[in-house]
Amino acid sequence: MERFDLIIVGGGAGGFAAATKASELGAKAVIINSGLPIGGTCVNVGCVPSKVLLEIGNEYYLPQHPRFEAVRNGHSATFDFEAAIREKNGMVDFLRESNYIKVAEGLAGLTIIEGRGKFISPKQVEVNGQMLATDKFIIATGSRPRILPFKGIDDVHYITSREALSLSRLPKSMIVIGAGPLGLELAQIYARFGTRITVLQRGNQILTWSEPEVAEELQRCLEAEGILINTQAHVEMLREEGNMRVVDAKVGSNLQTFKAEELLMATGVVPNTEDMGLELAGVEVTRDGFVQVNGELQTSVPHIWAAGDVVGKPFLETIAAKEGYTAASNALEGTNKAIDYDSVPKAVFTDPQVASVGLTEEEFMKRYNFCSCRTLEIAQVPKAQAIKETRGLVKMTIHPETQVIVGVHMVAPMAADLIHEATLAVKFKLTIDNIIDTVHVFPTISEAFKRVAQSFTRDISKMSCCVE
Ligand SMILES: Cc1cc2nc3c(=O)[nH]c(=O)nc-3n(C[C@H](O)[C@H](O)[C@H](O)COP(=O)(O)OP(=O)(O)OC[C@H]3O[C@@H](n4cnc5c(N)ncnc54)[C@H](O)[C@@H]3O)c2cc1C
Repeated sequence: MERFDLIIVGGGAGGFAAATKASELGAKAVIINSGLPIGGTCVNVGCVPSKVLLEIGNEYYLPQHPRFEAVRNGHSATFDFEAAIREKNGMVDFLRESNYIKVAEGLAGLTIIEGRGKFISPKQVEVNGQMLATDKFIIATGSRPRILPFKGIDDVHYITSREALSLSRLPKSMIVIGAGPLGLELAQIYARFGTRITVLQRGNQILTWSEPEVAEELQRCLEAEGILINTQAHVEMLREEGNMRVVDAKVGSNLQTFKAEELLMATGVVPNTEDMGLELAGVEVTRDGFVQVNGELQTSVPHIWAAGDVVGKPFLETIAAKEGYTAASNALEGTNKAIDYDSVPKAVFTDPQVASVGLTEEEFMKRYNFCSCRTLEIAQVPKAQAIKETRGLVKMTIHPETQVIVGVHMVAPMAADLIHEATLAVKFKLTIDNIIDTVHVFPTISEAFKRVAQSFTRDISKMSCCVE
């Protein structure tokens, strides 16, 4: 039986970050991976393919919709869906090779085994009939799309985000069930490619976790480009009619029927924790199957840690990687590191993008029972006016007594890039005066952040754009 210093089950972002830390510490580690190719969700069926296709959609759509009158009729591009999928596949292959396979080759002490890992005791894992043993484990097996047990689900053809990123033919119409980040990104990808999109969202707003103002503004922008969005839509029944998928849903109090060529389930994720012998190791999971961990990512078994989607914190590549690295440090160095999830930024890569960090107004109210917030429309930023790109808004929440910034939530072009100033503010507990006192480049959309900070103490609608 081969022994290792660290056994990592799962070869995605979490597993790789853990392996990197193990290698830095001179440990003998093994990654066991199966299911998705090495690199896991992000590079193969997640961040990378979705962002490539989003950008292809933007390149095709935006020149056809110029903002300036001087550019008449837009530019008439042609679009080849099969080429888009090929181009996306090429980028996935390239980044898997450069960011994972080549990186792994350079990590001293690391072995990768292709196969399904299964605990057979608290200190032993079996893979391909081979037994491996260690005193330290990290579970980083990720998640996969969740399929809700809608009536008729077994008799209807549907796709998940995985198939949606690799369709062989551009559908004329698509129903997207679920208006979270993945559902909305895929909705816009296909809408911009030319597919007629209908989104069905059970909750009162799209992006249920976001500030309502942000969700409302994004919905307005998506609808303005022809995406049909139904909130408060409760799916009653799925069925097929010829080549069409049919969804009967109660929207508000009206029963409505939606038909489309493709039906995309974007209803969240479930953890990959079944059939891997967690009960034999003594690792406890939540009711939904996520591995239970403490603040230091340690499971109910002290020598087993877990990281990434499988622990059910924000489902982000960056979090999986940070957790993997932290878990490996805690496991191998005996540290007690924890992650501050309050200052983790997240983004939705629609156009305009959504990005947020820290608490929403409602979350702050729940914790402290008082709050101070301001919302600024991007249209109030000089750069936005100059370039005629006025979609979006930014909402800032501060502690009313200390004026420390506790949350920033925005919808704006390039919001995913803009959020980092806010991230530093939340992480390092900056006040609105710290931001106001910082000279920002004029004219930039980043000035939105300074302007919203200024709006706590003055009426910015009466300010010249150049006043401090
Ligand atoms: C469409 C889409 C778009 C996304 N876009 C973004 C984005 O823009 N930005 C962002 O930050 N995040 C994004 N995410 C989320 C991000 O991809 C995930 O949060 C992240 O990749 C999770 O990494 P992980 O290491 O926890 O799991 P994974 O990357 O899923 O890796 C787990 C690996 O373990 C394997 N495995 C499972 N069980 C076993 C077993 N028993 N034995 C061996 N191997 C096993 C799996 O097959 C997989 O290869 C996106 C996700 C999707 C689906």
